Formats: sequence, C-alpha cells, structure tokens
Amino acid sequence: MLSIEWTASQGWFAPRITPYQNLSLDPATSVFHYAFCCFEGMKAYKTSEGQVRLFRPDKNIARLNRSSARIALPKFSIDAFIELLSKFVAMEERFIPAARGYSLYLRPNMIGTQRTLGVGPPGSALLYLIASPVGPYYPTGFRAISLEATEYAVRAWPGGVGDLKLGANYAPCIVPQLQAAKRGFHQNLWLFGEEKFVTEVGTMNFFAAIRDKETGKKTLMTPPLDGTILEGIIRDSVLDLARERLKPEGWEVEERKFTMDELASAAEDGRLIEAFGTGTAAVVSPVRKISWRGRLLECGLKEGQEAGDVTRRMKDWIEDIQYGVEEHPWSWKI
Ligand code: PMP
Repeated sequence: MLSIEWTASQGWFAPRITPYQNLSLDPATSVFHYAFCCFEGMKAYKTSEGQVRLFRPDKNIARLNRSSARIALPKFSIDAFIELLSKFVAMEERFIPAARGYSLYLRPNMIGTQRTLGVGPPGSALLYLIASPVGPYYPTGFRAISLEATEYAVRAWPGGVGDLKLGANYAPCIVPQLQAAKRGFHQNLWLFGEEKFVTEVGTMNFFAAIRDKETGKKTLMTPPLDGTILEGIIRDSVLDLARERLKPEGWEVEERKFTMDELASAAEDGRLIEAFGTGTAAVVSPVRKISWRGRLLECGLKEGQEAGDVTRRMKDWIEDIQYGVEEHPWSWKI
C-alpha cells in the first residue's frame, strides 16, 4: 500500500510504499464518527506486449480533489499523485494479469485522522492506496441486468454531495439495493424529484438510446451533471466516443434531463433501442428491463440477446484504448 500523511500545520509528509497492513487509529478518530472519507476507483491494465497503462488517471485524481475539498480534507497535486501511482503500479506489475478484461484495481482513499469528537475540520488526514487484481466483470460474456426504478429512497439531490465520491454516499444505498434484490432486481434506478428524473443506476451512470416518435432519429442520451450525478470517467468517455463515432452515423448525442415517464413511453412504443450503465468496474452494463410502478419495461433486447449494438461497440472501443489495441491519449503509459 501507498500511504501519505498530512497535517494542517506541516502539509503532506513523505509518501511511503509498505506491505499491506492494518491501520491503527484512536476510536475517537473523526472518520469513524463524521464520515470524513472519500475515495476513487481506477485500474491499471497490461497490453498484450506487457506494457502497463492507466486510463485517464488525471480525471480520477481531479475528482478525488473535488471530493476531499468538499469535506474539509486536503487536496493533492495531480501530477505528483500520478507519479506516485506510476511508481506503485510499476512495483506491483506482477499482480496485473496480462489478459484482456483483467486489471489491477486501484483504490485511493482519503480519511480524516484527527482524534477528536468535536465536529470540525480534521487537522490531520491520511491518503492511502490499496490494490487488488480483478478479472473480467462478465467472464462468460455480457449478462443484461434488470433494474427497479426506486421512488421511496433518493440517492442524490441538487445542492447535495451525490456528485462526489464520499464514503457517506454509499452506505445509505445498500438497504434499497437489498430490497430491490429481494424482488428479483439487480440494481436500483435512482430517480429525483416529483418529475421522477432518471439519474443513475446502482453505482453507474445511465445511458438510453431512443428513437424519436416523429422524426425516427436515434438519440443516445444521459442525464446532465446537475449535482445529482457522479461525473463518471466512463460516462465522459462514452459521450466523447459517441460524438466522434456515432454522430457521423446519424445519431444525436445528448446530455439532458429525462423522466421515467419519457423512458416508459419510449419503451412501450418500442422506441427504446437499448439502455446501459457505465462505470470503471464493468465499462458498460446492458439493461434488459426496468420495473416502474407495477409495469415491467423492456429495454430493447430480444430474447437471448444480452447487449445492444451501441453497448457492445462502446465496450470494445473503450477496452481497445485501455489495453493499448488502439493508441489514444486517454491511455497513459507507465
Ligand atoms: N456513479 C456512481 C455513484 C459511482 O460510484 C460510479 C463509480 N465510480 C460511477 C457512477 C461511474 O464512475 P466511473 O465511470 O468514473 O467509474
């Protein structure tokens, strides 16, 4: 693990890479009481030539800084952190399996370590990073998931902190997820407001491809970054690739608000072409159906079909970049 301590009076201390080990913290430490905790999720990949790559790591560190700043924890230089990450990943290179779909998951975490029950800005913090080899999310090919559009619980709201990767955002989502699972659904489709705007799915961003009622034009759409959406790095990548590669095929690409009613009417008219979640873990996750107010909306997949065409192509395009099959500025050589 990589560890860097910080105090308000002395700033960041020298980074250390040590064997994986327990932390020893006073029971009064602020992270345990007031959730001074934020984190990131990213991966190191190995190309078929054995070269190690990171995927848009600057985006993760910038997001970590936005998260930490919101909970009175310190920021860290993006360039310096990428240098440390590179050293760490080079050192642990033997744990990155050299096969497509495999990677080394990297978990940077920052916690407030001040020993006090007083509610205030932590005077000390610890930034650390742990890692684990991970296999492909869909080892036997895509498996489309089913969602429960959730009305009784809200993940994020305007002016809140749902657009940040704070530890405190995640624990409250587990009970709704268990409840959805009990009814046979893999994930919650999180909604917001009386209009029931679609926001995110589980811990992924959400995309829907629909056909316009009048013009028949195809649109790939995702909700905008209005404070209720985590600024996903795969979301951003899908949008860029869609603008570059789908637009010339006649697609519209839109970041805009849409409601469950709009999605439901597209599904019921047969105009919902496909839907998928995006995130670092799976890249893309195809959606088969959504439960909504007693109806079961079909999301464009035929029986036996596990992913739509855009979903598949996005996964291939992004993985080609991550694994160095396509040279691209998003893939950083270590
Ligand atoms: N939304 C939430 C709530 C998440 O936790 C994540 C995972 N970080 C995402 C979306 C996807 O983000 P990314 O594409 O950066 O992995």
